[in-house]
Amino acid sequence: MAKGKRNSFGGGHQPRKRFGQNFLHDPHVIDNIVRAINPQNTDTLVEIGPGLGAITEQLVDQVRKMAVVELDRDLIPHLRISFATRKNFHIYEGDALKFDFTRILADLGGDKLRVVGNLPYNISTPLMFHLLGYNNLISDMHFMLQKEVVDRLAAGVGDSAYGRLGIMVQYYCQVEPLFLVPPTAFDPPPKVESAIVRLVPHVIPPVTTQSPRELGKLVTTAFNQRRKTVRNALKSVADDRLLEQAGINPELRPEDLSLAQYARLTDLVLAAGPGAE
Ligand code: SAM
Repeated sequence: MAKGKRNSFGGGHQPRKRFGQNFLHDPHVIDNIVRAINPQNTDTLVEIGPGLGAITEQLVDQVRKMAVVELDRDLIPHLRISFATRKNFHIYEGDALKFDFTRILADLGGDKLRVVGNLPYNISTPLMFHLLGYNNLISDMHFMLQKEVVDRLAAGVGDSAYGRLGIMVQYYCQVEPLFLVPPTAFDPPPKVESAIVRLVPHVIPPVTTQSPRELGKLVTTAFNQRRKTVRNALKSVADDRLLEQAGINPELRPEDLSLAQYARLTDLVLAAGPGAE
């Protein structure tokens, strides 16, 4: 597709801000994304937010089954017409945030899903958390996100971008930042740089905890007050004795603690029971 032109079938569509519509039009970027995904003829692939089909049309003929989940009703007829001849192509009209991804495997078969999406930036974080709920059904995910979000996903202990998002996603997945994408690759161009990231769900989590849910709550509590010491940020859930049992110096900040330390503390808090503090 020529740079700067929308797909012919979507030429009349006005991008909608409320749906986070920044359509990809740079063929080199699209090629690089497809190469990173490395589609296989055994894949059951789902694309979130196909838009005008810029990525879709480069993937659909290479996989066994391709599903798309699109919220903007006005795009559905475009997609139906454009992919009418593809028998392996299936449209799900609706909100990916509320979508039950088990439906796709039930409808289309396959062992696991591969997930891709140039995600609407306004919902990318809740969408990733929604997808983590289907972790055991997903073999990998490739997302276009704001670069700043990819930095947060990949951040390690002590990085300024380290926080709840990175810790929780790293509990569920291996995070691999792949490459940057400039605003000029999109129509309309977003204000910020973007990046592609690969998330590969762990078969076995890197740390153990009795309850990933409680781990999530503990990390959220800690980072709600990230400038405070751990002693103060977590004072409603753990006293110095519990912190020290978890090998945590109470004087540290939330950003100094590793996933393993948060997991250990979660289990100690659970073992101590409600009101033990
Ligand atoms: N994949 C296309 C591309 O790369 O050109 C479009 C990407 S655009 C950034 C985001 C797409 O997600 C749009 O098609 C938008 O309508 C769709 N979308 C927005 N919110 C959504 C939601 N909650 N569920 C499903 N799709 C959504």
